[in-house]
Amino acid sequence: MKIYLNGKLVKKQDAKISVFDHGLLYGDGVFEGIRSYGCLVFKLKEHIDRLYCSAQAICLKMPITKEAMTKAIITTLKANKLSDAYIRVVVTRGEGDLGLDPRKCKSPSIFIIADKIVLYPKEFYQKGLSIVTVPTVRNIPEALNPQIKSLNYLNNILAKIEAINFNVEEALMLNKDGLVAECTGDNVFMLKNHTLITPPTAMGVLAGITRQSVLDLSPKLGLKTEEQLITRYDLFNADEVFLTGTAAEIIPVVSIDRRIIGRGKPGKFTLNLIKEFRKVTKIQGARYAL
Ligand code: PMP
Repeated sequence: MKIYLNGKLVKKQDAKISVFDHGLLYGDGVFEGIRSYGCLVFKLKEHIDRLYCSAQAICLKMPITKEAMTKAIITTLKANKLSDAYIRVVVTRGEGDLGLDPRKCKSPSIFIIADKIVLYPKEFYQKGLSIVTVPTVRNIPEALNPQIKSLNYLNNILAKIEAINFNVEEALMLNKDGLVAECTGDNVFMLKNHTLITPPTAMGVLAGITRQSVLDLSPKLGLKTEEQLITRYDLFNADEVFLTGTAAEIIPVVSIDRRIIGRGKPGKFTLNLIKEFRKVTKIQGARYAL
């Protein structure tokens, strides 16, 4: 496996970062999770734009241009001969001292890992997922905005642990006002009377790229879309619920906090959206040749 590290492709065992890197010491950095399908990097421009917005929000000056970043990602995919991959792009504040001061970190570190995609078990898609609401609330935007895809994922990890403790794979996270925010690595959607509803990003939600794809696809399926506040009550009474994310794509939810959602199996519209989404993954993005 070849890893892109600060402008060079190095072997996995040589891809090393200093223990003084603030990405490691403080979670000071940003990242993206991207996918390629049959030699097409899905929505690459959107992912790169979000990465640069995350960096801007934490005052991290990106050391390379967006064009160079695009090239670096494609180069990494080619070097690993991957047509279908999961790509992790990480930009850390760089090496500093033991203090917080980011001014001591002279140059950000960039690394890119491209690996085979590990798919969720088929069963999740066929039978649907059971999830629970967890006590850990999503970070409040005024403290650490969930729109920043930062290396500080402890909020999500704590929620994930709570879900695992309840024997389910995903956690539903509420914001500080008790409204539905998102899951630990996915956005949440509900369908009610042919309207697809998802919480607005201002609620403390990542502006998911899969989320936007679903919003864009919905009119094609005869669905209206709304970005609206959602409560647990709304989800319990939804016709269908599903989650969206780069890794999971679109995954049906059939039970929340032991309440059966809809008919307790993946809904018709969710299944149609999955089909339409699969088509989009074959056309929208940056192509490369191996
Ligand atoms: N919310 C969180 C907290 C996430 O980590 C992710 C995955 N990046 C998402 C939502 C889904 O975003 P996307 O569709 O861009 O992968």
